[in-house]
This record gives sequence, C-alpha cells and structure tokens, in this order.
Amino acid sequence: MNERDILIVGGGIFGAAVAYELARHGLGERVLVLERLQPAAGATSRAAALLTMVRDDPGQIALARQTFRTMAELEQELGEDIGRRTVGALHAAPASHLAVLQARAEVAAAHGIASTWLDKAEALARAPWLAPESFDHAVFFPDECYVEPYLFATALLRAAIARGVRCEASEVKRVVVDTGRVWGVELADGRRRAASVIVNAAGAWANRLSVDLGLPLPMAPVRSQYWISEPAPIFPRDGAIVLLPAIRAYARPEVGALLFGIRERQPAVADARTLPADLAGFVFDPDDADGWANLAEGADELAPCFPALNTLGIAHYLTGPSNYTPDRQLVVGAAPMIAGLYVASGCNGSGISFAGGVGRLIGELIRGAAPFVDPQPSAPGRRGAFDPYAPDFLAACAAARAGKTSG
Ligand SMILES: Cc1cc2nc3c(=O)[nH]c(=O)nc-3n(C[C@H](O)[C@H](O)[C@H](O)COP(=O)(O)OP(=O)(O)OC[C@H]3O[C@@H](n4cnc5c(N)ncnc54)[C@H](O)[C@@H]3O)c2cc1C
Repeated sequence: MNERDILIVGGGIFGAAVAYELARHGLGERVLVLERLQPAAGATSRAAALLTMVRDDPGQIALARQTFRTMAELEQELGEDIGRRTVGALHAAPASHLAVLQARAEVAAAHGIASTWLDKAEALARAPWLAPESFDHAVFFPDECYVEPYLFATALLRAAIARGVRCEASEVKRVVVDTGRVWGVELADGRRRAASVIVNAAGAWANRLSVDLGLPLPMAPVRSQYWISEPAPIFPRDGAIVLLPAIRAYARPEVGALLFGIRERQPAVADARTLPADLAGFVFDPDDADGWANLAEGADELAPCFPALNTLGIAHYLTGPSNYTPDRQLVVGAAPMIAGLYVASGCNGSGISFAGGVGRLIGELIRGAAPFVDPQPSAPGRRGAFDPYAPDFLAACAAARAGKTSG
C-alpha cells in the first residue's frame, strides 16, 4: 500500500475542497490529488461563481453556508484575497412573480439569512442598468457574494498542500475494485496506484470512471453559459448580483462591465463520453460557437429588463458543462456496494456555491464522523441500474437546468 492511500481524482473545486477538508483534519499526508490537466482547468475556472445561500432545499442551504465559512477560514489562513465580493443579491420581479420573491424571503428568514425589501429607487441604486418598468418588487440579500473561482480552487489546494496533501499531474484511466472494495487506480500511462479510499471528483467526466463499476451516476453535462458586455458607466463595480426569476436570468458586475446569463428553454446536453478532456475551444453547438443564436433566443425577454443590451457590444462569451440531475440533488456521498469509493459531483450549476459543504460532507463520511447534512438525498446510487447516456435521461437532465431560477 502507498503511504498516500486517499486518492482524489480531479483538481476542480470539488476535489480541492475535499483535499482541504481532509487536510484540516490531519489527513493531509495520506492524500494525493490526481489531475490530468491543471488545477481548476475544467468547469471551475469557467464559472460565473455567484455564491448564493438562498435556495429551495434546506440541505443545499447548509452546503452553501458551509462554503461561506470555508472561504472565511481560507482567507484568514492564507492571508489572501480570493476574489470574494460581498455585493449582495437583488431578486427583482414583476407583480406576477411576487410569490416567488416572498418564498425566498421566507426561506432566508427561516435560516437566519439577512434580507430586506427594497423600493424601486433603492433597487436601481444597486443595479442602475435595470429597466425601472421591468419589475415591481425587489428583495435584497446583502450577504450573497461572488468569487474568483480559479483563485478559490487554487487557494483550497495550496492550503491543503501546506498541510501535507500532494498533487500529481496524472490521468486516471480506471478505478480498480477487488471483491467489493476499492483496490486503487490504473493511470493512463499504465502505472497502478493502490488506495483504500478513492474520491471521484472528475466533474463532467465522472461517469466515465463510474459506469464500468456498475455505478451509473444520475447526472449529465448540460451547457452553462454567459456573456460579458463591454464596460459602461451603468455597471458599478460594487453593484449587486441580480436575479430575475420571471425570465430565468442572472447578472453580476465584472470589472466595469456586466456578466449575464439567461437560461434557455431547451438547454444543450452532452454525452459525457464525447466530451474532450481539455475544454479549451469546446462548445456544445459548433454552429453557434459564439453563442449568438442563444443570446438572440433570450433577447426578447432580456432586453426589456436590460435595455442597454440593444446598444452595447458583447465582449466575451463563456460556456462549459455543469452536471445536472433530474431530481436537482447533488451526487455526493459513498458508493453503494464498493467500500472506499466516494463521489463528489452533480453540481446542478452551483458547484462553487456548494464546494465548502461538499468538501466537509465527503470529509466527514471518509473519517466516519457524523455528517452535518443528510447524505441520503444526494446518494450516488439513488437511481439504481440505468443508462446515464440514454437520450431520454439526458433530456431529463437538460430539463432540470431549464427549470432553474435560483442563483
Ligand atoms: C459557464 C458556467 C457558469 C457557472 N456559474 C456558476 C455559478 O455562478 N455559481 C456556481 O456555484 N457554479 C457555477 N457553475 C458550476 C461550477 O463551475 C461547477 O459546479 C464546478 O466547477 C464543478 O466543479 P468540479 O470540481 O465538479 O468539476 P471540474 O471543475 O470540471 O473539475 C473536474 C476535474 O477533474 C479532472 N479530471 C476529469 N477526469 C479525470 C481523470 N480521468 N483523471 C484525472 N483528472 C480528471 C478534470 O481535468 C477537471 O479539472 C458554472 C459552470 C459553468 C460551466
């Protein structure tokens, strides 16, 4: 047995958060992170990285709240800025969607998350680009933030390394199981590494390591995307995150410009077997590589809320895969029937928000400590035997994104 008997496959935000959590509990010398590219090279560095605690599911609120605690610890430990900007989140909607805002304010109150109703002038002071006639009500959650996701992930890894974790540039070809427990991994270069614990944190590629073990993960990579406008004075750097549930749109400041997204009604979904290892240049739809067709599809709804869209140029388009699940739960926990195997995935487009919580939960399960949230809803084996590449399953995962209205 290697002296490093806990292998984490994937150096994205989930793998990094698990490594950090294990290191904080004195297990750093046992942990090896295997990442085939560079840390955060997958979905993580592409994220808009809105970090929101106000969610429908209490378990997911707990995961997100832990992320805020993790960030605070990390900033203190490293004495560094990880690009966290606590600008608050403004949820604005027409009268037809007042009930949605009220429900969110109630969730916040029930969980001790600060919120305040704003009048129109107060709301516009935080988001001057918003058309006044596009909303009737606005509720503001002052503690929500966004972060620089690459800095966050690499800070987690650096703090973990400082406590003994090692990272290696290696591709895992397969997980090897022997009589109901993990034996270790086989690497793409033919080497084998023994381990007593393996964490599959391989993001959009996680099913490629899992299906052959008889553990299809109930998730599929669905397109996430956003655009960044040209800079303009109507986008204050300390402006709020804005969520527009009536049109499924979100926005946040991006160094003097506006980063915004609108969730398409029929999101593109990929078969994980066809995703390239390196996402540089990858797009879901090569006929719409710059995202123009998708932006045009959403523009009818977006432009009345964001009139500058008609005149401002678009400076950047970013896209990447997020693992969505039909039941909108994560895929986090211990594998059934294979002792020593854990999965940290199924982010539903919110993996940066959940990272601290996912790291803590997996760390507790590995250490045999009482989990701080119920791991049952996110159990990796909850769907039993099924084909995660079947077209109707992929369509169900895409539909989960289409229905998403929170951050
Ligand atoms: C456009 C976009 C916008 C987003 N916006 C937000 C947002 O506003 N808020 C939010 O919370 N979340 C957001 N997300 C989601 C967030 O980015 C993801 O949930 C999160 O990054 C998932 O992290 P991960 O570690 O699971 O995956 P990844 O970051 O993809 O990491 C997986 C890693 O595993 C490695 N790997 C895979 N297979 C192997 C192998 N066989 N061997 C070795 N290494 C391997 C990959 O190279 C990769 O580095 C967004 C995502 C996208 C694409």
